[in-house]
Amino acid sequence: MSENLNIGRYSLGMGDRFGQQAEAQLRACLMAAEQGAPVVPVWNKSNREHMIIGSEPSSVRAAAEAAIKNLNWNSEWHVDADHIRLETVDRFLSASDFFTIDVADSIGKPASAEDVKAFVDKHPELIGSVEIPGVAGGATTTRTEVERVANKFLFAVQEAGAIFRHIERNKGKGRFIAEISMDETDSPQTPIELLIILAAIADEEIPVQTIAPKFTGRFNKGVDYVGDVAQFEKEFNDDLCVIKFAIQKYGLPANLKLSVHSGSDKFSIYPAIRRAVKKHDAGLHLKTAGTTWLEEVIGLAEAGGEGLILAKEIYAAALEHIDELCAPYATVIDIDRAKLPSATAVSNWTSEQYVNALRHDQSCKEFNPHLRQLLHVGFKIAAKKGARYLDLVRANQSVVARNVTHNLFERHIKPIFLMN
Ligand SMILES: [Zn+2]
Repeated sequence: MSENLNIGRYSLGMGDRFGQQAEAQLRACLMAAEQGAPVVPVWNKSNREHMIIGSEPSSVRAAAEAAIKNLNWNSEWHVDADHIRLETVDRFLSASDFFTIDVADSIGKPASAEDVKAFVDKHPELIGSVEIPGVAGGATTTRTEVERVANKFLFAVQEAGAIFRHIERNKGKGRFIAEISMDETDSPQTPIELLIILAAIADEEIPVQTIAPKFTGRFNKGVDYVGDVAQFEKEFNDDLCVIKFAIQKYGLPANLKLSVHSGSDKFSIYPAIRRAVKKHDAGLHLKTAGTTWLEEVIGLAEAGGEGLILAKEIYAAALEHIDELCAPYATVIDIDRAKLPSATAVSNWTSEQYVNALRHDQSCKEFNPHLRQLLHVGFKIAAKKGARYLDLVRANQSVVARNVTHNLFERHIKPIFLMN
C-alpha cells in the first residue's frame, strides 16, 4: 500500500474550459519551478462548466496527461472535480484525484437539535476565551454563539462527510485529496467560525487538505478584489493561525491549507496573501478558472482576421444573452451594464482596442472590467460556436498560448509564489 496522497505546499488551480491550453498552462508551472518555486498544477473544472460546455471529466485528465507527457513534467499534478456535490460527483470519480466538496448550499440549513447539542457539549474549549496563537487577543465566544455557528454550519459539514465517504468508498482511503468549499454563499466566514467549522470537520473525520472559506470582500470572476484590503489581510492572517491551531488541536492533516477561490486577478490582495503565507510558513492553493478562456479570446482578437471577427461575435452574443449567462454566477460577478459597450461599437474595434478592453492591465485606460466579467461568464457562447471556435483557437495557438502562459506566470505565479 502506497502512502496517502498529499498535496504539496503551493498549488495552482487552473481551468481549461475547452481543453486546449493544458500545455501552455503547465509551461507557467515549469517556469516557476525553474525559478525555485515549485507550484503544483491542478486542473479544475466544475460540473457546471461541464454542463455548459457539454464536456466529460475524462477530457480534463486526458488534456492534462498529454501536457505532462509533452513537457516531461515529472512532479506532482492533480485533476480537481471542482464544486461537486453528492448528486454530481459520480462521473468525476475515475478522472479525478482531488475533490472540491461544495456544501455552500447547505449552509444555514439546521442540523438536528441533538447533533448541535452534542457538538457544543463535545467542545467546551470553543466556549469562553479561546487562545489562538497569533490571533491578537484570542477570541471570545459564548455557548449561544457556538450554538449559532453550529446551527449554521453543522449540517453542511455533515453533508461534506457524506460526500467524502461516498468518494472514499469508490477511490479508496488516502487515494485522493479532499477540499471543502464554502465560498459560493452570501456572507463571509469569520476566523472563529472557521475554527468551529474545522472542529466539526475533524469530528466528521474528513482528512481535509484544503479549505475554501468565503473571505471578506468581493471575489468577482476575473477582476480585482473589491473590499477593505487591510481587513482582508487581518482575517487572512487570523485564518492561517486558526488552521495551524486546528491541525494541532483536532488532528487535521498537517498540510491543511487555505484555498482561495475565484483567486485569479485579485492583484490588490496578492501582496497581503504572499506576506501572510510567508510569515506563517503556510501553504496555499490559489484557484483560477475562467481566466484561461479569456486569454483564448484575447489571442483570437490579437490575431486579427477571422479571430477578431469571432471575438466580436462572441461579445455581441454574450451581450444579447447577458441575463442567462450571469444567473449562475450572481454571487461572484458585479457588472454595471451601463458601462458595457454596445455590440455595434465593439464591431468597429481594432485588435488593439479589443485586447486593451479585455486584458487585465489596470494601467491601461481602455481596460473594461465589466466587459471582462461578461466575457468571463460567456464561455457558453463559444461552446455553441463549436468547431468554428476550436478551429480558430487551434489555428492561432501560438498567440493564444503566449497569452495563457504569460497571464499565469507574470500576473499570478510571480506575485504570489515567487517568494524571494
Ligand atoms: Zn469556488
